[in-house]
Amino acid sequence: MLRFTLFGIPVEVEPWFWLVMAFIGGGFAALQSSSPDLYMGVVLFMLAGFISILVHELGHALTGWKLGGGTVWIRLWAFGGLAYQQGGRFDRRGRCAMILAGPGAGLLLAALSIVAVFVIFPMPEALSRLSIYLRYTNVPHEVMLRFFPENKPIYGFLNSMIWVNVWWSMLNLLPVFPLDGGQFMDQFVKSRKAMHKASIITCIVVVLLMLSNNMTMGIFFFAYFAYQNYMGYQQARS
Ligand SMILES: [Zn+2]
Repeated sequence: MLRFTLFGIPVEVEPWFWLVMAFIGGGFAALQSSSPDLYMGVVLFMLAGFISILVHELGHALTGWKLGGGTVWIRLWAFGGLAYQQGGRFDRRGRCAMILAGPGAGLLLAALSIVAVFVIFPMPEALSRLSIYLRYTNVPHEVMLRFFPENKPIYGFLNSMIWVNVWWSMLNLLPVFPLDGGQFMDQFVKSRKAMHKASIITCIVVVLLMLSNNMTMGIFFFAYFAYQNYMGYQQARS
């Protein structure tokens, strides 16, 4: 397991994290085609995923630590990232700020990567790249290679940074517990049953939308969240 400290916050990365990132980044397709470009794409995607999830969790952890104190640490695992906080004291505003700081940090990274595209490429090409980078498909760099075969690693990296930070930040803001949007909703909805019900309905809509676009991994995640919320709904008293 990889362990290090960043801005005074201990971070641990489980081996499963890298495997899941390789899978989402098109590891299977790369193995089947054995094309060096696709292998490079997978590695760049893993790097972009690592940086993005780490920055997202740092957003939570640093904001939480500043506003509430206590002990914070970060773990990257098979299901993405987690920022832990022990012994912190929060009012509702502080808690909301800590929840929103994660997707906020992700969207900031997306904005910086988009600016980089406009700095590197002339206007018409920057725009057409951006419209392709933002397409929601299972494997972003595969699409990019088809449209821009002359790619350098930095382009693939920017592509993955934009794709990951735009889409994952937005999915994370959906009202599905325990995603950030769901945790935010939890601050305002008193009834646990209503909170889990809203999460289940959102999951069903998302899964239906993803089914029509063949997003296998996303379907798996949201089906799992729906199941978790169904269990939560059954256990909730009110
Ligand atoms: Zn988060």
